[in-house]
Amino acid sequence: MPELPEVQTVLDTLESKIKDLEIINIKILYKPIVECNERTYKKKLIGQHFRDFKRRGKYLLFEMDDVTLVSHLRMEGKYFILDDTVPLSKHDHVIFYLSDGKQLRYNDVRKFGRMELIEKDDDYKEFKDLGPEPFSADFNLEYCKKELSKKKLPIKSVLLDQNFVAGIGNIYADEILFAIGIHPLTPGNKLDDDDIKKLIRETRKILKKAIKAGGTTIRSYTSSLGVTGRFQMSLRAHTMEKCPLCKSDIKKITVGGRGTYFCENCQVLKP
Ligand SMILES: [Zn+2]
Repeated sequence: MPELPEVQTVLDTLESKIKDLEIINIKILYKPIVECNERTYKKKLIGQHFRDFKRRGKYLLFEMDDVTLVSHLRMEGKYFILDDTVPLSKHDHVIFYLSDGKQLRYNDVRKFGRMELIEKDDDYKEFKDLGPEPFSADFNLEYCKKELSKKKLPIKSVLLDQNFVAGIGNIYADEILFAIGIHPLTPGNKLDDDDIKKLIRETRKILKKAIKAGGTTIRSYTSSLGVTGRFQMSLRAHTMEKCPLCKSDIKKITVGGRGTYFCENCQVLKP
């Protein structure tokens, strides 16, 4: 599943390619992706321009002239910018015909992604309970301390909870916990001030690094593959075999149903 860095990379890439282009026409091939009826969708979007590109958690927000298009990629959603001569794939579900003659195609093998239209200054209902952005000033020691004091769940699960902090998924949660030396099963309320300060710092550092890696990777293959948001960055714990610090075996366990990688030697379990 794309996490914050992938979503940000997709957004940045789209911004560089389609900013200020107009939507001339839309074709919806798989209707459930679009959470309103087709006629309303077309009426509100045709003739609108892609003016601004924003992100909230793992949501992409395309600000048009009069409305905002909210898009969630879920498991496998991807955007491609292609010439109209490229044949449709069976996984292309929504086609935006753009004023430069190209097509923005929403492609989704699993079909779990969703798009919704909201009024420009509306608060999207899904954002109501979403936690702060990791890069925002609201994600600070005081906030984390208060929230974590209520959490008996493993810190790994807390990091995946979008109501605690927005945008972190399974891969980066493992990387963050490795970086701060905390065992994924440590209850959230056992982290002390120093752990929390490290957690905030490392979260930002790791996400920033991933966004940078994503930009580099995507630029190198955009022309053939489009905006997939999938790229390789160097991971230290997630799906690794040996700990890069102590060389012992990386362990894999399941936490809250998610495959979790950690080093038993370098990551402390606080009881
Ligand atoms: Zn280790």
